[in-house]
Parts: sequence; C-alpha cells; structure tokens
Amino acid sequence: MSRWIGGELHLGRLGTRLLDAALPAACPGCGVEGSAICPGCLPAFYRRDGTPAGISIGLPSEIPSPLLQLEWCAPFTGVARRALHQLKYAGERRLTEPLGRAAARRWRAAGVGADLLAHVPVHEERGRQRGYDQAQLLAGVVGRTLHMPTADLLRRARVTRAQYELGRGDRAANVAGAFEIASRQTDGAVDVEGRWILLVDDVVTTGATLAECARVLLAAGALGVSAVTVARER
Ligand SMILES: [Zn+2]
Repeated sequence: MSRWIGGELHLGRLGTRLLDAALPAACPGCGVEGSAICPGCLPAFYRRDGTPAGISIGLPSEIPSPLLQLEWCAPFTGVARRALHQLKYAGERRLTEPLGRAAARRWRAAGVGADLLAHVPVHEERGRQRGYDQAQLLAGVVGRTLHMPTADLLRRARVTRAQYELGRGDRAANVAGAFEIASRQTDGAVDVEGRWILLVDDVVTTGATLAECARVLLAAGALGVSAVTVARER
C-alpha cells in the first residue's frame, strides 16, 4: 500500500522493509552507498567529544526548566540536518542505528544520572503515516548501547503544530498539555515514581517540547528528567 500525503510517497511498513532490503543505504552527508552514514561523515556527530556538558546542571538560565540536563551531539546543520530529514520524511529508518549510537556516546561522555529511558512520542496518526516513531527507535538504540531500560512512558494527547513552523515565543503554548502518561502505565508496566528519566528526541530547538514532557513525568512522580538529542538547532 502506497499513498501520497503532502506530496510525498508514504509506503506501508512492509513496503518500507522491502525497499530497505532492495536498496542500499546512501549516506546523507556525501551520498556514497553502503552504510546509513559513511565513516567519513559520521564524525560530524562526534564533534562534541571531549567538550564538557553543553548545558550542565547548575546553569538554570540555559536549561529549559524543569529539565536537569540537556545534551546533544551535533548542530542541526549539514549532515545532521539532512540525516534527520531523511529519517523523518524519507523513511530512512536505518539512520536510527548510527544516530542513536551517537546520542548514547554523548550521554555516556557527559550525562549525569538517569536510570530509565523514554522518548518524545509523535502523534499516533503521524506515527501510522510514517510507519514508525523515529524518537522511539532512537531511544531503543540508546538503551541497547547504554544498557538502560527503555519504556514508552508518554503519548501525545492532541495534535500539535510542528514547532519549526512557530516563533520561539509560541512554542511553549503549542505543546502545553500536549502530552500525557501512556495508558499502559496504569497497568503497572513501568512506574515512573522515583525514577530519573532520560528523554530521547531527534532535535531540540527551544527545549519547550522536552520541558513539557518533563513536567508530565514529574507530575507522575518521576524524581528527575534529563534529555539527550541527536541535534540542536539554535
Ligand atoms: Zn558520507
């Protein structure tokens, strides 16, 4: 099943898998075929190796409250921008592996605490159209790499406008009340009570979305919430 939505071809999950098997991955940085991101372009995501935590605990003016810490791998430019665009809009799911490992690498180097991973979910309808939730896939890779448990803690309670369409001042209002604890929580699958949660997302701009998710998790009893993203847009 294929359909055209917003001028882009969206394939069903099976179609996407078949295409992945048939087509070699092409690097979003240089176009060379063979791996999701080639060894020559991958270091763009390691640029912050050796630099101290970008937004560290104790600098409240830079942290989108109530996040304890926010870490990121690369500026949202060049190969990072193209890779995330392909992941979100071109169905290139294979990018979650190198991008998730890069986020894990940054967190391992600069992150403090956290004992449970969760992702910033896309709206269910968006996830159905795309065939996957890219942040959920990224969180899975981060969890495997860091040997941390991962849980689907949040869901979108309502559709929001894409943050990039809005000015900085409107972004907090756009996501206010947009998230809720996933209903699976009430079955006792994973209790957020007393946990220090690390949120995973693809890109951060103002941090309004991450901060809104953190508020929901803290209200549900989480001890603290930190975040790691692949890219940061300034
Ligand atoms: Zn490349």
